Amino acid sequence: MRKRNRTRPVFVGGIQVGGQDKVVIQTMIKSRPKNTNEAVREINALATEGAEIIRTAVLDMEDARAIKTLKAETTVPLVADIHFDYRLAIEAIESGADKIRINPGNVGSEARLRAVVEKAKEKSIPIRIGINAGSLEKDLEKAYGRTAEAMIESARRNVTRVEAFGFEDIILSLKASDVPMAIEAALKAAEIFPYPLHLGITEAGPVYQGTIASSAGLGAILSRGIGDTIRISLSGERSEELKACKTLLSAFGLYTMPKLISCPTCGRLSYDMQALLDKVERYLEAHPSGLKIAIMGCAVNGPGEARDADIGIAGGKKEGLLFIKGKTKKKVPQEALYETLIETIENYDDQ
Ligand code: SF4
Repeated sequence: MRKRNRTRPVFVGGIQVGGQDKVVIQTMIKSRPKNTNEAVREINALATEGAEIIRTAVLDMEDARAIKTLKAETTVPLVADIHFDYRLAIEAIESGADKIRINPGNVGSEARLRAVVEKAKEKSIPIRIGINAGSLEKDLEKAYGRTAEAMIESARRNVTRVEAFGFEDIILSLKASDVPMAIEAALKAAEIFPYPLHLGITEAGPVYQGTIASSAGLGAILSRGIGDTIRISLSGERSEELKACKTLLSAFGLYTMPKLISCPTCGRLSYDMQALLDKVERYLEAHPSGLKIAIMGCAVNGPGEARDADIGIAGGKKEGLLFIKGKTKKKVPQEALYETLIETIENYDDQ
């Protein structure tokens, strides 16, 4: 992993964003804050699954006031996402939101923007300035088209407006559903602005397509050491978003999770590898560690092909092999492969 871009750190509740190697994982609840029971359940479940910051849409005053209840019954930092009505932003901050996300372009007059910024300053919370390729200012779109350049100019304009009130606890996002445009905008933004960048591909799509589009886009940005917090937006279960975030960050060494290596199988496969793989994947989800575990299809090539793994199993007709760091340790009867593997994982420090 190349050196990470150092940005100006801000704090969302107790969570630092920017100015560090860590990339913070975010997601958004589907419930309305005013449906407090449902929202609290959702927030707590997502926090357990690894969300470090959680965002909620605030659509009316009841939602804004309900933030207070949500804050009292949850522990993860909460971000209020507001469009158009500056009064909702003020109420959400009063109710204890740990950050607000606004598009200053649609908040209205300078006086209204100032009121929001002053309230954020009073409560010492950051503001995310969210620039979206789909909702650029008309004059910028006319001058630059719907391009990364227009997004940068919009960011420049809105950051300047907020900075004019002496406010610097800013997080910036420049999102587009067009992957190359989102990459270009983020890379340019990292050169221009000192603020932490929130990365995301908007309307990325259903789980499979969205995960690939987001991994391609965010991966290209992260690979250059850029990005302080990410959300992978998927039309599906929120737990899929979190899983995708963790897996993507882990590919860049930015998140510690067990790495499961498995072969694509071929004609040499002679046991039910998929069943074993599924079982081990479930185990590793419940027992996180930094180990690299390999599940391979045959004992002929398995240990060699997975020589980077810390621990591995290569199945066979009646028996398989347990190997550690590519070296065969012992033969294991087929029916004992899973138990032997788990036992080895649990005692790995003693190896
Ligand atoms: S480990 Fe064995 S079964 Fe798996 S792909 Fe390689 S040769 Fe085929």
